[in-house]
Amino acid sequence: MATAASGQPAYKIIDHTYDTVVVGAGGSGLRATMGSAEAGLKTACITKVFPTRSHTVAAQGGIAASLKNNSPDHWTWHMFDTVKGSDWLGDQDAIEYMVREAPAAVYELEHAGVPFSRNADGTIYQRPFGGHMQNMGEGPPVQRTCAAADRTGHAMLHALYQQSLKYDADFFIEYFAIDLIMDNGKCVGVIALCMDDGTIHRFRAKAVVLATGGYGRCYFTATSAHTCTGDGGGMVLRAGLPLQDMEFVQFHPTGIYGAGVLITEGARGEGGYLTNSTGERFMERYAPSAKDLASRDVVSRSMAMEIREGRGVGPNGEYIYLHLDHIAPEVLAERLPGITESGKIFAGVDLTRQPLPVVPTVHYNMGGIPCNYHGEVVTLGKDGPDTVVPGLFAVGEAACVSVHGANRLGSNSLIDLVVFGRATGHRLKQLVDPSAAWPELPKDSADLALTRLDHFRNAKGGSPTAQVRMEMQRTMTAHAAVFRTDELMVEGKAKLAKTYERMNDLHVSDKGLIWNSDLVETMELDNLISQASVTLHGAQNRKESRGAHAHEDFPERNDAEWMKHTVAWFDGWGGKGGGVKIDYRPVHEYTLTDDIEYIKPKKRVY
Ligand SMILES: Cc1cc2nc3c(=O)[nH]c(=O)nc-3n(C[C@H](O)[C@H](O)[C@H](O)COP(=O)(O)OP(=O)(O)OC[C@H]3O[C@@H](n4cnc5c(N)ncnc54)[C@H](O)[C@@H]3O)c2cc1C
Repeated sequence: MATAASGQPAYKIIDHTYDTVVVGAGGSGLRATMGSAEAGLKTACITKVFPTRSHTVAAQGGIAASLKNNSPDHWTWHMFDTVKGSDWLGDQDAIEYMVREAPAAVYELEHAGVPFSRNADGTIYQRPFGGHMQNMGEGPPVQRTCAAADRTGHAMLHALYQQSLKYDADFFIEYFAIDLIMDNGKCVGVIALCMDDGTIHRFRAKAVVLATGGYGRCYFTATSAHTCTGDGGGMVLRAGLPLQDMEFVQFHPTGIYGAGVLITEGARGEGGYLTNSTGERFMERYAPSAKDLASRDVVSRSMAMEIREGRGVGPNGEYIYLHLDHIAPEVLAERLPGITESGKIFAGVDLTRQPLPVVPTVHYNMGGIPCNYHGEVVTLGKDGPDTVVPGLFAVGEAACVSVHGANRLGSNSLIDLVVFGRATGHRLKQLVDPSAAWPELPKDSADLALTRLDHFRNAKGGSPTAQVRMEMQRTMTAHAAVFRTDELMVEGKAKLAKTYERMNDLHVSDKGLIWNSDLVETMELDNLISQASVTLHGAQNRKESRGAHAHEDFPERNDAEWMKHTVAWFDGWGGKGGGVKIDYRPVHEYTLTDDIEYIKPKKRVY
């Protein structure tokens, strides 16, 4: 044991040494952990919740791969749909990599024990999902989404966790990673708090993989778990590195009104449809061809338009109806048992007889830690816009590869987790030498983490964490929603800056270190608010509409000026006041191989 460098609060530090440390045990973190351990590297996986409680467990509808079990399909069609879904902000080399690796990744899961739903001939059952079409977007809808009823993420996460125990990886469960250890631009480890006994742990590593998931909780209502606080993104910003395309926040069309609980797109895949207060199937007007299976940004905007124009359902016209009451109860029981239960519990609705009140709800972050398709984190630097940050990797929803660009297609996240989790394992095998010595840790290796921990633990101001968090969530919900105007966003930025000032006036009442949820939630809030800021600043800066970013003052996509990734830095910790600096990275306008040509931008209609 050692203590932190001089001048720092005296906390005892327990030291560990690994080749690879993965932070996060959701689908992406577990797949990366397996890959690293399989490559013969000494691997640790740190997770703040028990692995099978990661948000991946909540994924319902399924995982996309062109297996062609239930309809004709081809990887080039999957690629076209993903590029179009991304509104041409996705990097096509990475997209090609993902869709080509997808079938093998699904079979790998099948062999790992995922109990997929089956067709009569024994093959994996695949359902239609929004924005997935046959014939390079021409249609009809393709059945590409492999499903284990409506509990696909649950099945996947349990299988992956069981598999990862087979390999020789060490799990540090209910450890909260606080900050990265950086040395001259290189990542050399991470500091974590063991929440159970309050001990501080310093992990020295040749590579750190951030697999910490999304940051949906910077909004008031989200389908994501309370633990989705984007801790990896917060750590990256504090390390002086940028996040990418954070203005693109996906609203899922069907969150249960009031509760925010998700109803999978698979519900519409199985024949469900939306109606307004006049009983009209309004999606036929907005997306004549794909209708209720248009991509999520399109359906969410159409619903918001209906509500805004006075055709919302309910006493205050605040929601839309989702109908599944025409589907045979046996089909619902077999294919959508989980959401049938959710409808009953969270809305008191019997889905076999009644429509369900739904509203667009924050669901997924397209933006995140910029990285290439090997999982290596990149930034603007000496080698140009794709300069690799040595020692640092990112996978899953925390990362921005970018395969989802401005809008993610349903069932493309689960496939992203396993494809890039695996790719990261391959890269680690190439780059990390298990026989090499570890570099010396910098003298101040624990300072950032421990100063912050100590600061928040002893915060004696007048603003309880929950109050400040609520203020941030309300601002994001009101000022960075489905539709955005310049005036709204400018106002939102000012409000958020005020809320950020309150971070200096926080009050944490529990001063202990053992199961101090007040303290952990405060560190999570610190991570959330930095990302809320870059989200809102990035949104106000982008003067166009693209994918999930619908700017009412600039309703058209503007490829000439804006077909580029936003990269944003945050001046947060250390009294720097919360400023945001913005720059850009070019979109990769090339594919991975000559097997397919670059898919040129065109107008996006469904
Ligand atoms: C309700 C719901 C349904 C969905 N359905 C689908 C679907 O059907 N198909 C699809 O493709 N996508 C779906 N998605 C999206 C998809 O499930 C997620 O994007 C994906 O599961 C994220 O996985 P992940 O591995 O990136 O992170 P997560 O599964 O969110 O896991 C994050 C991990 O990081 C750890 N962690 C975080 N911070 C720290 C810290 N500070 N210290 C230590 N550990 C930390 C956590 O403990 C956890 O293990 C759905 C999402 C939701 C919310």
